[in-house]
Amino acid sequence: MGKIVRMISEDGTLTVMAADTTDIVERAREIHKSTPVTTAALGRLLTAASFMGAVLKGKDDSVTIRINGDGPAGSVIAAADSQGNVRGYVSDPGVDLPKNANGKLNVSGAVGKNGSLTVMKDLGLKEPYIGQVPIVSGEIAEDITNYYAVSEQIPTVCALGVLVSKEDKSVITAGGFIIQLLPTAQDDTIDRVEKCLENIEPVTTMLAKGMSPEQICRSVLDGFPLQLLDEMHPGYVCTCSRERVEKALISTGIEELEDMAKDEVTRVNCHFCDKIYEFTPSDIRALIARAERQR
Ligand code: ZN
Repeated sequence: MGKIVRMISEDGTLTVMAADTTDIVERAREIHKSTPVTTAALGRLLTAASFMGAVLKGKDDSVTIRINGDGPAGSVIAAADSQGNVRGYVSDPGVDLPKNANGKLNVSGAVGKNGSLTVMKDLGLKEPYIGQVPIVSGEIAEDITNYYAVSEQIPTVCALGVLVSKEDKSVITAGGFIIQLLPTAQDDTIDRVEKCLENIEPVTTMLAKGMSPEQICRSVLDGFPLQLLDEMHPGYVCTCSRERVEKALISTGIEELEDMAKDEVTRVNCHFCDKIYEFTPSDIRALIARAERQR
């Protein structure tokens, strides 16, 4: 289980969320057998998606973030529900790169600096909300900050981190925080937040020390009295089902399905959780019959 807390300053000028997503990102690593650098890329985006999901208002609302860069890892995708539960994948989780000049995992090298970040929110309306911005750095936290500034006009500070073990490549800690100014914020609020952030430690260091998300919120906004708004316990949750896979197969069209019916077995692999759904030729013929009825 992960943990997210959301807090608001007593003067009502800003909100802050912090998350411990260690278990979620480790689960993602186990599913995708990702390298340290792709674990970091996916883990950062999963944490960001969890933040975006946690503030959705409708119970059935959902959000998907896709970062589509020109790096060797390809696209990174993370989706969240309104409880902050997430799932995600990287096109090529096997990409490995040397550390960058600072001795850090080279996330921007894997993701690429040219491309776009797209946020799609399904809010139960006829059309989804879609916001798209160019990639700024490929390090993900800066890209999320830029997305909020450009696409939603919300001044935001975001930090995301994933610490991977050198020995077995498992996730030691993962998490992040996100500070957002409300329209009531004055210029001096921004100055005060910037001052707070001058000397803060990396979020993975705070988590490794055993700090809770609430303690992280209070630590990064030292001097701002904060009130707890809510607390969530998200997990890595996939929403796939045989029914959904059947619908996806039907949508490929009768011609495709007739080809599949010639195979002894058709296997469909869920990108998000790696579950395999098997279909025999008679299963496929049943789908063809459904497709014909829908015509
Ligand atoms: Zn799945």
